Amino acid sequence: CGIIGIVGTKPVAERLIESLKRLEYRGYDSAGIAAQVNGVLERRRAPGKLRELEAVLAAHPLNATTGIGHTRWATHGAPTEANAHPHIAGRVAVVHNGIIENFAELKAELQAAGRVFESQTDTEVVAHLLDQALSTGLEPLEAFEATLKRLSGAFALCVLISGEDDVILAARNGPPLAVGYGQGEMFIGSDGLALGPFTNRVSYLEDGDHVIATHDRARIFNASGTEVVREIKTVPASA
Ligand code: GLU
Repeated sequence: CGIIGIVGTKPVAERLIESLKRLEYRGYDSAGIAAQVNGVLERRRAPGKLRELEAVLAAHPLNATTGIGHTRWATHGAPTEANAHPHIAGRVAVVHNGIIENFAELKAELQAAGRVFESQTDTEVVAHLLDQALSTGLEPLEAFEATLKRLSGAFALCVLISGEDDVILAARNGPPLAVGYGQGEMFIGSDGLALGPFTNRVSYLEDGDHVIATHDRARIFNASGTEVVREIKTVPASA
């Protein structure tokens, strides 16, 4: 139900948790984070409150500077650790708010192609589709665009790709999503509140937009694939 993504230069795990705490007001049943650790995706997840995830992280720290985080309000699949986001397939980790309406057809197609699923969520198809597109040799942005074309429903997505430790991809088709601009760091979040600890310079994505964020910039594209400029607003500093 809440999303945060950071392409950063500082330890990311505690920043992701700090941001997810600001999204707690939306309600959630489980939480998780994934990060790039020396080019390899690692994740920590836990059902229940964020303190459960913090306990997992205390026992198994995640040392990285780029990562994504999620608080989940289950729509497809019980609120278990296996169904908690991020979902990982091959090189891809994804967090998602909303519902992928055509996930059943996509899952059947992917399973027929030999893909094995680990969760009951609608979300996991996104990770597999993107990993499949990458494995055909497409660049991250092209592969993400090919994936988005396959999805119907309402979604906000944020994605990490192993080996691409300077990249976060995100898309908005319904639930809100914002881009935050830092100093040599970029952020993606469900709202300005989630980004408050890091920056007060924020652009709100419009429906159909997708974005590729790297340490020094964010390129935003609209639904027809045209690169666009979304106004950067200065939001009031939050405590
Ligand atoms: N439909 C997804 C799931 O059940 C995402 C739910 C959410 O918005 O948190 O896992």
